Amino acid sequence: MWTGWWLWPLVAICTADQFRDNAVRLMQSTPVIDGHNDLPWQLLNKFNNQLQDPRANLTSLNGTHTNIPKLKAGFVGAQFWSAYTPCDTQNKDSVKRTLEQIDVIQRMCQLYPETFLCVTDSAGIRQAFQEGKVASLVGVEGGHSIDSSLGVLRALYHLGMRYLTLTHSCNTPWADNWLVDTGEDEAQSQGLSSFGQSVVKEMNRLGVIIDLAHVSVATMEAALQLSKAPVVFSHSSAYSVCQHHRNVPDHVLQLVKQTGSLVMVNFYNDYVSCKAEANLSQVADHLDYIKKVAGAGAVGFGGDYDGVSRLPSGLEDVSKYPDLVAELLRRQWTEAEVRGALAENLLRVFEAVEQVSDHKQAPGEEPIPLGQLEASCRTKYGYSAAPILHLQPGALLASLVTLLLSLYLL
Ligand SMILES: [Zn+2]
Repeated sequence: MWTGWWLWPLVAICTADQFRDNAVRLMQSTPVIDGHNDLPWQLLNKFNNQLQDPRANLTSLNGTHTNIPKLKAGFVGAQFWSAYTPCDTQNKDSVKRTLEQIDVIQRMCQLYPETFLCVTDSAGIRQAFQEGKVASLVGVEGGHSIDSSLGVLRALYHLGMRYLTLTHSCNTPWADNWLVDTGEDEAQSQGLSSFGQSVVKEMNRLGVIIDLAHVSVATMEAALQLSKAPVVFSHSSAYSVCQHHRNVPDHVLQLVKQTGSLVMVNFYNDYVSCKAEANLSQVADHLDYIKKVAGAGAVGFGGDYDGVSRLPSGLEDVSKYPDLVAELLRRQWTEAEVRGALAENLLRVFEAVEQVSDHKQAPGEEPIPLGQLEASCRTKYGYSAAPILHLQPGALLASLVTLLLSLYLL
């Protein structure tokens, strides 16, 4: 059979194209739902959120990972746009900044109605798929955006927030971030404080997806244990593949499996390969690994486009998703598994979150103890009338010591 050998390279090329063709065919009916994109942050940085600036035209925008032609080429069918404000706004203007980022997402939908459809539920995502538009949802990145207030949490829900990342890369007064696991930050809440537990319960009640990207392992464990609905990691990868503390360790992947939760893989080189360089195949390694440990139902995509400075070769911008899907097909993922990773897994989680929500149940009302808040720039209205039970244990102890001292002095 000497005649056949020269055909092999040709067969290999044809097969490679076949995987790409199959990826495109799949994505025409099941486009990708991506968990995290920081285009709104770019719009703030580059144009101070002035979308009518000709340079901010999303059809021709360059120098970003995301624009309208790239979204179309990438078969992006739904995007959780990140309403992100950095940690240095904590205890300052974090709420105002968050509101402005939600506003710019909503104005994207108004300015480009042919492309974006702002939606707030799973049915809306399916509707956008039908219309060939990019379902646009708001993910608020960082618990500091609620400024330790259940009232702000509820108001953000009413403005369209459908996930909240419990922390960014800083502790809030009620939840610890991943830098606690590197030793750079000190544990404050040992996962979730009592108020942090109230936040998670209120998110369940409202129907806001709990996002555990950026949090410490103790916070992951506490939230996975407490939440009545499955959770997501909107942009995190697998710790066993790259030992970075932003990634999800194996024992947490087991909890993800048990709770029907979802890890949407981050493409940032530093989390993919633990080096400055990475490639598409290494991203597929994370997807493969999470599938192996937590099951195909636990896998999704959370590229972190426009939020990172380094991306793998082959995944340079949002137009490249079909190439990654082709790689999964090449690795013998079934069509059902691929459709799960693209969209069905997120829709399943979102529907479960919607099922758990109960707007008839009484809202959480207990405020965070005043002593747990940084005092500068903060008024104390309401707290003076609060019952003594709301005082911090430290404050109680101090009062007791003062009392005993005064008795002794007498
Ligand atoms: Zn992030």
